[in-house]
Amino acid sequence: MTDLLRVLARKAELRARAGLRRELRPRSAGDTLIDLAGNDYLGLAVHPAVIDAAVQTLRGYGLGATGSRLVRGTTDLHERLEAALADWMGADFALVYSSGYLANLGAIRGLALPGTRIVIDEFAHASLLDGVRLSGMESRTYRHADAADADRILGECSRAGDGRLLLITESVFSVDGDLADLAELHRVARAHRAVLLVDDAHGLGVIGPRGAGGVVGAGIAGEPDVVVTATLSKALGGAGGVIAGASGLRQHLVDTGRTFIFDTALPPATAAGVAAALELARSADGGARRDILAARRSRLTGLFGAVTDGGVFPIPAESAEAALAWANACHERGVAVGCFRPPSTPDHISRLRLTLNAGVSEADFELALQTIQETR
Ligand code: PMP
Repeated sequence: MTDLLRVLARKAELRARAGLRRELRPRSAGDTLIDLAGNDYLGLAVHPAVIDAAVQTLRGYGLGATGSRLVRGTTDLHERLEAALADWMGADFALVYSSGYLANLGAIRGLALPGTRIVIDEFAHASLLDGVRLSGMESRTYRHADAADADRILGECSRAGDGRLLLITESVFSVDGDLADLAELHRVARAHRAVLLVDDAHGLGVIGPRGAGGVVGAGIAGEPDVVVTATLSKALGGAGGVIAGASGLRQHLVDTGRTFIFDTALPPATAAGVAAALELARSADGGARRDILAARRSRLTGLFGAVTDGGVFPIPAESAEAALAWANACHERGVAVGCFRPPSTPDHISRLRLTLNAGVSEADFELALQTIQETR
């Protein structure tokens, strides 16, 4: 073994001893676990209309996009999906990426012209933090979901330089499911002439009128100083990411965005499946699915205390080991729950993370709750 591999093996051993070892749990088509761990909030990943759209496209267009967006990778389906997303998200344009991670990297790099100072929520998702790093710009964090702290730091940043300012938050936070006050953050951003970038990954399809997300819900969609990113892999049940905003930004991203230009486009079948999911998500059918999520949120609040507004519900555990043992016990009894341990928890507190799925039957949901309580 080389020196490097010896060091890596030793580090893995130390992580295992601290309860931080991670295991892959492959799932097969016949999987019967009750899913409170995935992000298929509306149950659309398995909806027949979504699957039909993808299968038909697969036959017509082939498996992959065969090239990057600027070469051969843009199909009429990508453009149709982008138009539907822009319309739903209340933006001038939407550009689709092959993942939400790449959309975040591309958005931050695209917005951070030289001299930009970035102010970001301390609990922001890894893809946003990586975007900040990749931009090479100076950055500061503000206290989680604290608009007054963001205001203070933006003030310090604007006094320190004459550059541009970029404020970054999620709408629904991915680990605890709490919401940012987007209207207030927008007010703060505007007062400092900052651009506000919102990652609506866990909001799109789940909150806001007709599921249009947190940004539409806060009444700030379509504002010239608001840019939105999201993933197409959660409530829309597929894969891919999106950047949506005011028209001036689109050409800049197409001309210069490295994660747009140098990455193979989203497979056309995925674009078609996601477009079908989007139509369902914004329809009365999607509304009924969101009603199921709301009822289950209240049920969880009644049992475990916490209050959340999206599809994410955290239950704190005493330690990383306790969280892992609890999640494993649930798994053995047929219930998949998320287990979040450092470094995936921003505050270093391990927890179970339950994610709601409107496609899980009422009986299965109740059985899962019973299992979670009995294995505590
Ligand atoms: N942002 C947030 C808040 C997320 O939770 C995720 C997914 N874990 C992403 C971005 C990345 O999206 P994708 O999985 O499509 O790359």
